[in-house]
Amino acid sequence: MGLIVQKFGGTSVASADKIHGAARRAISAQQKGHQVCVVVSAMGDTTDDLIDLAKQVCAHNGKEFPPPKREMDQLLVTGEQITIALMAMAIQAQGHQAISFTGGQIGLVTDNAFSKARIQSINKQRIYQELDQGKIVIIAGFQGITPDGDVTTLGRGGSNATLVAIGAVLKADCCENFTDVDGIYTADPRIVPNARKIAKISYDEMLELSGLGASVLQTRAVEFAKKYNVPLHVRNSSNDNEGTWIVSETTNMEHIVVSGAALKKDLIRVTVKNVPDQPGIAARIFGDIASANIVVDDIIQTISDDNTANISFTVEHGDLHDIKPAVEKLTKQLGGKTIAIFNSDLAKVSVVGVGMRTHTGVAQRMFKALADAKINIQNISTSEIKISCIINKTDGPKALQLVHDAFELEKAK
Ligand code: ADP
Ligand code: ASP
Ligand code: MG
Repeated sequence: MGLIVQKFGGTSVASADKIHGAARRAISAQQKGHQVCVVVSAMGDTTDDLIDLAKQVCAHNGKEFPPPKREMDQLLVTGEQITIALMAMAIQAQGHQAISFTGGQIGLVTDNAFSKARIQSINKQRIYQELDQGKIVIIAGFQGITPDGDVTTLGRGGSNATLVAIGAVLKADCCENFTDVDGIYTADPRIVPNARKIAKISYDEMLELSGLGASVLQTRAVEFAKKYNVPLHVRNSSNDNEGTWIVSETTNMEHIVVSGAALKKDLIRVTVKNVPDQPGIAARIFGDIASANIVVDDIIQTISDDNTANISFTVEHGDLHDIKPAVEKLTKQLGGKTIAIFNSDLAKVSVVGVGMRTHTGVAQRMFKALADAKINIQNISTSEIKISCIINKTDGPKALQLVHDAFELEKAK
C-alpha cells in the first residue's frame, strides 16, 4: 500500500469533536495499510481573527499602520501550530501513534516574501523516519521558514499548497483535500444554489477557476499539482461521498464547452493616466509592482493624441495597501501630468472550459446573459479556455447565477 496525504481545512478542525473526526479518518487510512501524513489549517476563523487583532493593534493614535509583514507571519503561523498539537493528541487519545511538526521542523524552506512566500524545498528525511516507525505525521499547513530562520506564510488558503507540496516530494499516491463542501462545483454553491458537483476536472480548468475566484483551492496549489502530476481529490470532511478528482486532461473532456463559472468578488482598478508613450514605461510600471509581489490582471493601454498613454489594470482589494505606495512612488518619479486613480467596488465573473478551444459562440452567450439583465460589462479578457467580464461589485452574485444558468451548468453533460 502507498502513501496518502490528507489536508483538513479550517471548518473541518473547528472544534475538539471535529479534530477527533479528522483523526479518525487519518487512522482509518492507516488501518487500510497506507502511510499517512496530515496537513492542517488553523481552527475555524482563527486566521481571520488574528488578522483583525493585528489591525486593532496597528490602529494607534488615530492612524492606521499596515501591520508589518514579518510580524504578521509570526502571528499567523500560531493558528496552524495549535491545530497540529491538538490533532496529534487526538490521534494518540484514540490509541494510535502521531507526531506533529511545524513547517520549520520539517525544513519547509521558502523565499522571504512574507505573507506570500514560495516553497523552495522540504526535508523529507524526518517525515520518512517517523512514518517508518508507524506514526501518523501531522504537518502545519500555510507556513514555512526562510534560510535565515524567519517564519513565513504561503498566502491565504496556503494549506492547500502545503498539501500538494508534501504530496509531490513524498510521491504520494493521492492527496485528499477535506473541506466543507462535497467537491468542486460548477460555481460556488454558497452563491449559486443549483450548482452541480463535478466528478472530474482538468488541472488547467481548475487553475483558471481558482485564479478567477473559486477559493476552494489556492491557485499555487493547483499549479504545483499540475507540475508534479499529483492526483488531488477534493471531498467533504463530514461525509464519505466521492468528491472531485483533479487530473490531467483527457480527450473526452473537450465535449464539455463550459465546465464552471467563478466570481472574484472584490477588485480594484488602478489607472495610471498621462504616462509618456515611450518604450520601457510599461516594463517599469509592472516591474515595480511585481517586485512588491502583487498579481495584476486585465491590463489595458490606451493612447491619446498628445503622446501619452493611460494604463489600467486590476488587483485584488487585499493588495491595496501594497499597490498604493508602489504606484504613487512611480507617478512621482514620472512627474509631469502623470496621476494614478484607484476605482474600487469591481468584480469579475468568468466562465471556464477546455471545450472553448474547439467551440464558438461562448462569448456571445455570456455577454447576452449579462446584457439581458442590464449588467454593464466594463472590460473583457479571454484566454484559450476562459472568458472574463469586469462588472460592478454589487452585480457579482447575480451575474454568476445568470452566467451559470445561461450555460445550463446545473445539468450533467
Ligand atoms: P477550507 O477551510 O476547507 O480550506 P475554504 O473555505 O477555503 O475551505 O474553501 C471551501 C469553500 O470554497 C466552500 O465552502 C465554497 O463556498 C467555496 N467555493 C468557491 N468556489 C467553489 C467551487 N467552484 N466549488 C466548491 N466550493 C467553492
Ligand atoms: N489558515 C490559513 C488561511 O485561513 C491557511 C488555510 O486555511 O489554508 O488562509
Ligand atoms: Mg482553504
